[in-house]
Amino acid sequence: MKIKIALLGNPNCGKTTMFNAVTGSTQYVGNWPGVTVEKKEGPIRGHKDALLVDLPGIYSLSPYTLEERITRNYLTTDKPDAVINIVDSTNIERGLYLTTELLEMDVPIIIALNMTDAAEKAGINIDAGKLSKSLGCRVVKTSASEGTGIEDLVKNTIDIASLKERPGSYPRFSRSTEDTLEMISLAASKFSGDLPKRWFSVNLFSRDPILRQLLPLEEGDMNEIEDLIKSCEESNDDDSESMIANERYTYIDGILKGTVMKRGAEGLSVSDRIDMVLTNRLLGLPIFFMIMWGIYYISIQTLGDMTIGWTETLFGTISEKVSALLSSANVAEWLHALIINGVIGGVGSVLGFVPQLMILFLLISFLEDCGYMARVAFIMDRIFRQFGLSGKSFIPMLVGTGCSVPGIMASRTIENESDRRLTIILTPFVPCGAKLPVFALFAAAFFPEQSWVAPSMYMIGIGMVILSGIILKKTDLFGGEPAPFVMELPSYRMP
Ligand code: GDP
Ligand code: MG
Repeated sequence: MKIKIALLGNPNCGKTTMFNAVTGSTQYVGNWPGVTVEKKEGPIRGHKDALLVDLPGIYSLSPYTLEERITRNYLTTDKPDAVINIVDSTNIERGLYLTTELLEMDVPIIIALNMTDAAEKAGINIDAGKLSKSLGCRVVKTSASEGTGIEDLVKNTIDIASLKERPGSYPRFSRSTEDTLEMISLAASKFSGDLPKRWFSVNLFSRDPILRQLLPLEEGDMNEIEDLIKSCEESNDDDSESMIANERYTYIDGILKGTVMKRGAEGLSVSDRIDMVLTNRLLGLPIFFMIMWGIYYISIQTLGDMTIGWTETLFGTISEKVSALLSSANVAEWLHALIINGVIGGVGSVLGFVPQLMILFLLISFLEDCGYMARVAFIMDRIFRQFGLSGKSFIPMLVGTGCSVPGIMASRTIENESDRRLTIILTPFVPCGAKLPVFALFAAAFFPEQSWVAPSMYMIGIGMVILSGIILKKTDLFGGEPAPFVMELPSYRMP
């Protein structure tokens, strides 16, 4: 018998790091059926019969984004034997929102309070025992990147999966909401089937469109439920969906009192201080340019230039040795020239750039991992907005700095049709990973002394995106207001 374990949590809470820590290196990467969202599976190290699945990062189980729908479907149809809910300890209020929803699904669940190391540094102290009591499920402190608490987590997860240990309770809301939920649950009880009861009534109350489609509700049943919701909305002067959201946060606040201790005043964190400079209205863009310039300077001019010398010597030696070998074998003149000048000379001059590119990619992934690339999106949003482009367009374009193909695929998160099309058209202009070597090659081959050439080509690429955007925005097809844009700036981390 195989057991299925799902890994679930907000984006950037450390799911993938945890996945790698728990499974070791044996894993299978594919796609969720029919969509281009990555699916990762692998057996847990030391427990060959337990399969771990890395679900997409989500903030809530509402059915609005593709990621949320994939996760919900997985929970309701595939029915994992246990769910590991990863919560970022430095951002516990937000992480627990998803937890309150998961507790209603009535699956065995364990909470991994991840980033314990970062929380300790920030002076946040969480009483895991108390939290476990209030939530009614097991809680383990972990640090996926430092590898602490992993064994404890695996042991407890296997435990709850084999014992089928479901949460002891679910989040309780205020009296009036609870009364309405009770009545809805009675009115719709004959349709709930084997769906989790609490999840079912809460989602009927918040008018979950997918759940409603799923149910064989008659017109009459629906009216009865709708009346119940309406009267509750009127007495609270709020719509049912935001009422539930508020209830969840109230519940979380209640739990966290006495569970989480924060040392020191509410002062600015180190991350905030760094951001005051790096995302500064005036300084942000010049700093971005300086950083890009610095990266090219290191990877092409200084460190990169040294590697050119090494590869030249290397290929020189190879070419000498082979030449001597060929001469001693009395090879025809033309074949000698073909091998020495053509093959070794030609391939050598291309391969000569490989060390430079390795340094370049290393430095760019360094920027991505420490959190600076998210700031770049934020800085660019301010500029993009002035040209009528949505800040949401910048995420696909940012992905496009790696490769246009996933960049274009990432544009599916843009709800507005014309914004999405515009983004798809513009993303290929972004200087992508495959263009960087071309810039580097041109700059190194033709302008070895001028360090500004490569970064200028980079900036001209970005300039083209903006220019084409302005032109296209003037056409009827793409006119109109850009959608508002909200994004998360994760705290800076050691890459
Ligand atoms: P995902 O989006 O949930 O898959 O998150 P990732 O696994 O990609 O992690 C996001 C970032 O958090 C990466 O830079 C990780 O190195 C970092 N990270 C993950 N776990 C920990 C942890 O326990 N402590 C610290 N300090 N950083 C972590
Ligand atoms: Mg991930």
